[in-house]
Amino acid sequence: MRQYDVIIIGSGLGGLVCGYILSKNGYRIGIFEKNDQIGGCLQTFRRRGHSFDTGMHYIGSMEEGQILHRFFRYLNLLDDVKLMKLNEDGFDRISFNGKVFNYAMGYENFIETLSSSFPGERDNISEYINKIKDIAEASPLYNLREINAPTFIETYYIKSSASSFIESITSNDVLRNVLAGTNSLYAGVPNKTPLYIHALINNFYIQSAWRIVGGSDSIANSLAASIKKNGGDIFPESEVVKINTDTTAATAIELSNGETVRGKFFISNIHPQATIEKLHTSMIRRAYRERINSLENTISTFTLYLVFKPGTVEYLNYNYHHHSTDSVWDGQGYSESDWPRSFLYMHQADNAEMSYASTAQVIAYMNYDDVARWEKSASGKRDAGYDEFKKRKGEKLLNELEKVFPGIGQNIEAYYTSTPLTYKDYTSTKEGSTYGILRDCNFPTQTLVSQRTKIPNLYLTGQNINSHGILGVTIGAIITCAEFLGINKIIKEINE
Ligand SMILES: Cc1cc2nc3c(=O)[nH]c(=O)nc-3n(C[C@H](O)[C@H](O)[C@H](O)COP(=O)(O)OP(=O)(O)OC[C@H]3O[C@@H](n4cnc5c(N)ncnc54)[C@H](O)[C@@H]3O)c2cc1C
Repeated sequence: MRQYDVIIIGSGLGGLVCGYILSKNGYRIGIFEKNDQIGGCLQTFRRRGHSFDTGMHYIGSMEEGQILHRFFRYLNLLDDVKLMKLNEDGFDRISFNGKVFNYAMGYENFIETLSSSFPGERDNISEYINKIKDIAEASPLYNLREINAPTFIETYYIKSSASSFIESITSNDVLRNVLAGTNSLYAGVPNKTPLYIHALINNFYIQSAWRIVGGSDSIANSLAASIKKNGGDIFPESEVVKINTDTTAATAIELSNGETVRGKFFISNIHPQATIEKLHTSMIRRAYRERINSLENTISTFTLYLVFKPGTVEYLNYNYHHHSTDSVWDGQGYSESDWPRSFLYMHQADNAEMSYASTAQVIAYMNYDDVARWEKSASGKRDAGYDEFKKRKGEKLLNELEKVFPGIGQNIEAYYTSTPLTYKDYTSTKEGSTYGILRDCNFPTQTLVSQRTKIPNLYLTGQNINSHGILGVTIGAIITCAEFLGINKIIKEINE
């Protein structure tokens, strides 16, 4: 029977980063992935010769010395992942109330640029920037400072909401909306989403923002190559259906082909609710099971993947966050008739010297309930009603795009769509949730999931612990690996 020091269930970013750190430190790693392609949200797909990202479009803090650059250097990713810097004077653009407002890179540039749209608000915008900078700098883990316990942020920032913080900054309603205008990056819910999530993500991109060139699968492939070089194994098409235990610990995983693989330690990179479904042991008490299962997940999305006719659409080196409601927080509360209330429009980068876009994506919030009636049928075998639904929603979203970018429709050669069911099929997140468990500042301890489980040798990693996104998940993986190596040893390794 095969045996590993550490078995990792799922090859999403969190699983791969754990695999990298632990294999580098001498552990024999086996990663088991249900899909034929590794990477989870880092997966790409090809249509008409173009590669499309599915869940990693732009990243931040990649200037030399900035936080993600330091992680990428440690993870040996710098040579393999190609990046293109977004427009420094407007990498994110917020379309609200008939006007467009620019988020610029660099703290001073951000203040200057936004103040030119809100001349009387300079002091408030400066206060906003100082505050999010303070929050990011206060966290030892987000600054790679040695610490005594893997705490990642002060309790106050977990207990207060992003929306009330923004309200405290200014009474200017338009500015409030602009400061909250990228809330789709964290599926923000007013009076629920904690301040630290808003602050860490915005600070991350304001420092510097970059498009991944040529596909986000380069991150997964590079990490996988390093893990293999360190002696680890990665098995695609290997779905874990059960985690076996004895009376005190986890002992093995069972795969869908019936094979059993033994391990000394286990890390689950899949959703905590999916993890406990695979455990049939009294070590997981009913109260823990109920608590995990009762956690609300962030909303899912509907995505349009566009292929443009060559040489017709000028490449936009920024992301366009469009809102058609009176409040940018209202995008999730749509009805059938007014969907979509907001969308995020992004061109993808095939190479670093593009002047025309070849592909783009338009992402809009969508509730799982809209597609739940097809959940029992398998991917690729859904009835004609599902195709009709996708077509109808795709055209609706295209119409909204056309209103903002008139004439865009005539330059589209083909388009493809994905729904919450697509994400459920390809990443197994609950109900296709975009970023996993919804953190709620009113229930901070209940909605923060620990990397430890009730089983002493089974840990969790991925976007459901710590936070989502490339930085949140990487730091989450470090928190998980700290259980094996100690947090300061890892921080020291990265700093060296
Ligand atoms: C639409 C979208 C856009 C995004 N855009 C960005 C962005 O621009 N920038 C950014 O930083 N972040 C972005 N994110 C967030 C980011 O992609 C995720 O937070 C992160 O990649 C999640 O990583 P993870 O480790 O939690 O694993 P996941 O990506 O969830 O992967 C889990 C893996 O486990 C596998 N698995 C599941 N069940 C089993 C099983 N039983 N057996 C074996 N394997 C199994 C899955 O197939 C999958 O490969 C985006 C996410 C989405 C959905």
